[in-house]
Amino acid sequence: TAQLEVGTRPVCGVELFDVEKVRADFPILHQQVNGQPLVYLDNAATTQKPNAVIDAISNYYREDNSNVHRGAHALADRATVKFEAAREKVAQFINAASPQQVIWTRGTTESINLVAASWGRLSLQPGDRILVSAMEHHSNIVPWQLVAQATGAVVEPIPVDGNGNINMIAFDTMLNARVKMVAVGHVSNAMGTINPVERIIALAHAVGARVLVDGAQAVSHWPVNMQALNCDFYVFSAHKLFGPTGLGVLYGKRDLLEAMPPYQGGGEMIESVSFSGTTYNQLPYKFEAGTPDIAGAIGMGAAIDYLNSIDRKAAAAHEQALLAYAEEKARATPGIQLVGTATHKASVMSFLIEGAHPADVGVLLDKQGVAVRTGNHCAQPIMDQFGIPGTVRASFSFYNTFAEVDRLFAAIEKAKTFLL
Ligand code: PLP
Repeated sequence: TAQLEVGTRPVCGVELFDVEKVRADFPILHQQVNGQPLVYLDNAATTQKPNAVIDAISNYYREDNSNVHRGAHALADRATVKFEAAREKVAQFINAASPQQVIWTRGTTESINLVAASWGRLSLQPGDRILVSAMEHHSNIVPWQLVAQATGAVVEPIPVDGNGNINMIAFDTMLNARVKMVAVGHVSNAMGTINPVERIIALAHAVGARVLVDGAQAVSHWPVNMQALNCDFYVFSAHKLFGPTGLGVLYGKRDLLEAMPPYQGGGEMIESVSFSGTTYNQLPYKFEAGTPDIAGAIGMGAAIDYLNSIDRKAAAAHEQALLAYAEEKARATPGIQLVGTATHKASVMSFLIEGAHPADVGVLLDKQGVAVRTGNHCAQPIMDQFGIPGTVRASFSFYNTFAEVDRLFAAIEKAKTFLL
């Protein structure tokens, strides 16, 4: 399972992953910030882009730029072929049964809004229940609140314990025939918890509920498999997968997507328009109104090619080794409190320094060239539950090094001398 894959650690501390080789592919990493070599540990917010992605986007604009699906000329044909090839790459990357089940959106947030608005208005009745975990990103809470307001359904939080794990016993007892949707993150952006989505999907399906998995924080860490996972919807953003901003994916089961009404109108989503009745295009175009982000899709295709060219198992093991190393150091550092101590975690370390506000820590780390995220990480309910304003979050990607973890802790020590 995913948990086993990402839990693999290098045998006896031997590094199997050539981190310097991949670092050479990411030009942005090689710069000074505030007079220090950049240490980029904000990968959960957005990942950096390899040359292959940057080149694919600029080559598209240099050589192929045209609108897709419509033009009767060579450039339009080339743009269309590359755009659809990128969709095919995504379908293979997530093992979807068909590229028709891969819908381009502006990102995870729009994908969830699309499902909430389209599936929700079609399927929800007053009194129906939508369950979301208490650790969800706001993007996986608010769209459900909007559709609940419109339909009379209710949104209920699935309890999360003090370590940042979903309380599966409580979840099980919440399930009944009124639950129509369970929307959960595959990985928590705030704490890194890997949620047991396989079990959640099986339990939800047993009462006839649909499941949307927010994969924004999962897809960069290990391969996901739609047909094995058997979720109803899976959503993610290209920019957290080494691709461009402003583009995302909605995967859905075919029968659900076929039944759902369009989300927006205009452009490619139309088959024919008449004042006596408009008909809609087939999947996936039914949900793709207006000129899409063609360059973005091509860039995402390049990101997938890049990921397929590296040893992802070794990359995942390297990330896990970085996390273990960082958490070991955190535990050995007086005054550091880890937030989120689940057994299965992606390479995200959220923490507090006793007596210091996370925002102040962030500023002092930045002064030393170390980029982290601070705040509530768009997951205010779980921060409120923990009674904290937010955390400092260091999130590691496969291009980070152990020396960078050392830089983080040296910078923390220096920050402490200013703050405490
Ligand atoms: N869900 C999770 C778990 C996230 O981490 C994020 C991004 O921070 C989102 C949703 C929203 O993604 P986007 O802003 O790309 O739509």
